[in-house]
Amino acid sequence: MRTIVAGNWKMNTDRQGAADLVNGVLKGLAGLDTAVEVVLAPPFPFLAATVEQVRGTRVVVAAQNCHEAAHGAYTGEVSVPMLKSIGVGACIVGHSERRQYFGETDAVIARKIDALLEHGLTPIFCCGEVKAEREAGRHEHVVTTQLDGALGHLSADRLARVVIAYEPVWAIGTGLTATPQQAQDMHAHIRAWLQQRDIASVPVLYGGSCKPDNAAGLFGLPDIHGGLIGGAALDAGSFVELVRLATEAEH
Ligand code: PEP
Repeated sequence: MRTIVAGNWKMNTDRQGAADLVNGVLKGLAGLDTAVEVVLAPPFPFLAATVEQVRGTRVVVAAQNCHEAAHGAYTGEVSVPMLKSIGVGACIVGHSERRQYFGETDAVIARKIDALLEHGLTPIFCCGEVKAEREAGRHEHVVTTQLDGALGHLSADRLARVVIAYEPVWAIGTGLTATPQQAQDMHAHIRAWLQQRDIASVPVLYGGSCKPDNAAGLFGLPDIHGGLIGGAALDAGSFVELVRLATEAEH
């Protein structure tokens, strides 16, 4: 199975900070012998420069969002063909912050995923329950509904080109992490959903306060194949250490 470590910078850095962070990551990766796929998702204004900086390396540049339409009167939005035209290879979709603050539903996310696949970009689809849903024992049901709603319509060919990130919302940016058991149980649940559709090749990443001091216990779990990293991706040393830990845990 492919292993992926993706850094979601969210609305952080500026032009110089982004350039320095990319440089730091590239320097760190140069000293690593790794087959782990590394993805960097800077804010929109720094995407093009990041693509240039990583040219000739195996690093893939991802956007953090996209619009479902190819062009048109959608002030402030960015389309998939625009991203493709500057060399962006992937896009995070369905992040809980987009669901929570921008009202994104699984139906909208499904259309964004269609647009990405149409143009050959990799959707990194995020799913995960909020705290009250876990406390009510509804977490598996919630994630199944998200998978059905955003990915259920895809043909097997198309589904095989998606990357899934399980991100328990209560763990994002909070310092709380799912226990290895909680994470493995949900990843096995997602894996079973994929298996019902005869898909074995889709990596399922873990996200939610993943850091060098807790990653080894997560990346080594049977159904976890890397991580989607927020806070710790803003420090080149921590991010490269996470790539190293994912390399050690590769399975
Ligand atoms: C994220 O936002 O995708 C994320 C995992 O954030 P953090 O690592 O900061 O919890």
